[in-house]
Parts: sequence; structure tokens; C-alpha cells
Amino acid sequence: MRTVRPRSLRNLKPERGLHASQPPVDTMGKVERPSLESLIMDFAMSLTRRATCKRAQFSCVITSEDMTQIYGFGYNGTAKGFSHDDCKFDQPGNCQCVHAEQNALIKVRVNDPRKVVFVTGQPCVTCAKLIINSGASKVYYRSAYRSDEGLELFKRAGVEVERV
Ligand SMILES: [Zn+2]
Ligand SMILES: [Zn+2]
Repeated sequence: MRTVRPRSLRNLKPERGLHASQPPVDTMGKVERPSLESLIMDFAMSLTRRATCKRAQFSCVITSEDMTQIYGFGYNGTAKGFSHDDCKFDQPGNCQCVHAEQNALIKVRVNDPRKVVFVTGQPCVTCAKLIINSGASKVYYRSAYRSDEGLELFKRAGVEVERV
């Protein structure tokens, strides 16, 4: 008669995240962990919950070039203190909200000419110009936009762009 053995506990990997008892380790003994890019984009994605625009919610995080310092962040919406009803949400591309990139850039107090910009949505032309003038060396974005004009400006300005 066969006995049923309990499943080896060694095969049960702890859930990744806050409650993992030990970080996952690869065969070389190195602790496996997410890249800084993906963690900062996760942060940006959760910041979209602060956006007050009624059309679409975006956010932007600006960091140092090595991505170890956060210089500023922002999300889109009506001007500070104004009614969220000021968003003309029925006017595509012209709801009059302040864009996430604009809100993030005006909060940067550090005079570092080489910044990295994380945006949850592909920047519009105006924001692309502001990002170029801020001296950003790289832009990471997630969702696509109906126009590629902003991306073309980055290419012309020599700003590296990557969709993550
Ligand atoms: Zn809006
Ligand atoms: Zn914009």
C-alpha cells in the first residue's frame, strides 16, 4: 500500500512582496529584485489615484539620473484650490487641467541638468518641450497617446525614450 507523503515545504515559495520571509535568491546566491525603473513606474501608477482630472488620470515622477533620488512628482488636474468641476472633461485634448509632467516639473527644486522622467502616459507636445528644456536625459512612459509628436521631439532633441 502506497503512503501519501506531504508535499515538500521546500517546493513552496513564499509569496513575493511585503510578507515574504526571505527574498528570492538565484543560483549564484544573488537576491532577485525588481529594477528601479519598474518600482518607480509602480509608484507613478499608484500616484494616478491622486489625479483630479475627470477625463483621464496620469502622473509623473522625476528622479536623478541613477534613479536613487526623487526630485518631484505630480499628477494631472485642476489648479490647486480650484473646483474639480473646472475640468472640461467633454473637450478631448482641451479639458484645461494642468498636466502631470507640468505639475512634477514645477516641484523640482534640485538644480540637476540630468534628470530621468517617468510618465504613466506618453507626453503631449507641450510637455515634451518642457521636459526637453528641463534637461532630462531619459523618459520612461507606459501608455501610448493618440499623437507621436512628443516622442518625435524627444528623438530630435536626443532624449532617450523607453516604454516600460
Ligand atoms: Zn481634466
Ligand atoms: Zn502634456
